[in-house]
Amino acid sequence: MRERLLDVYRRLLAFYGPQHWWPAGDDPFVVVVGAILTQSAAWKNVESALARLREDRLLSFDALLRAPDEELERAVRPSGYFRMKARKLRAFAAMLAERFDGRLERLFALPVGEMRAALLATYGIGPETADDIILYAARKPAFVVDAYTRRIFDRLGIPPGVDTYDGWRSLFTDALPQETALFNEYHALIVRHAKVKCRKEPLCPGCPLLDICPTGQSRLAASAASQVDRRASRA
Ligand code: SF4
Repeated sequence: MRERLLDVYRRLLAFYGPQHWWPAGDDPFVVVVGAILTQSAAWKNVESALARLREDRLLSFDALLRAPDEELERAVRPSGYFRMKARKLRAFAAMLAERFDGRLERLFALPVGEMRAALLATYGIGPETADDIILYAARKPAFVVDAYTRRIFDRLGIPPGVDTYDGWRSLFTDALPQETALFNEYHALIVRHAKVKCRKEPLCPGCPLLDICPTGQSRLAASAASQVDRRASRA
C-alpha cells in the first residue's frame, strides 16, 4: 500500500508541481479560527469572516472569550451557520484557557495523539477540523481526509479497511512515512486534482493517474464503444 500511495503522490506532484500550501507568516491562531470557520463554507467567505474578526480585534483567545455573542456572530456571519460557529470559536477559546492557560503553544507541544484527543473533546471540532489544526496550525503530521480524498481514492480502487473518517485516515497514516511536509503536500495535491481533473464529472483523458485508475479506464472504454456504436448506426 505504501508504494501505491507514494506512486499516486509522485504522479500528482510531477503533474501539478508543489502547491505551496503554507503561506509564510500565517499566525497559528488565525489558522485554527480558519479551520473552524471553513466547515461547510467556501474559503472566500471564510476570508471575509477573518477580515471582520481582525477589524473588530477579535482574533485572540481572550477576545473570543470576552466578546458579546452578537458581536462575535456578526463578525463570523459571512462564513455561514454564524451562531453555531461563534459558539464553536468560543468553545475552543474556553478549552485553551482552561487546559492550556490560553497558550496555543502548550496545546501544540502535546504528542499528536493527545493533541487530537484534546481537540476532539472540544465542542464543534470533528476529526477533519482536528487534523486540519494539527497539520496546518501545529505543523505536525496528521492526514486530512475530505470528500475529495474519498472521491479520488474510491475511483482509483484504493479503499480504506473501514469506510469511516478514521478508516480513511489510517489508510494513509499507517502506510506513509510520518512526515508533516509529505502530508501537507499530498492533501494539497488531492484538492488540486479534484478541482482540475477528478471533478464530479471527471476529465480522464490526460489524467496522470489514468493508467492506474480502473474508473478512468472503464469510462474511456465506454466512451470509445459508444463512438463505435454511433458510427455504425450512421453507416
Ligand atoms: S482517470 Fe479519471 S477517474 Fe481516474 S483519477 Fe483520473 S480523472 Fe479521476
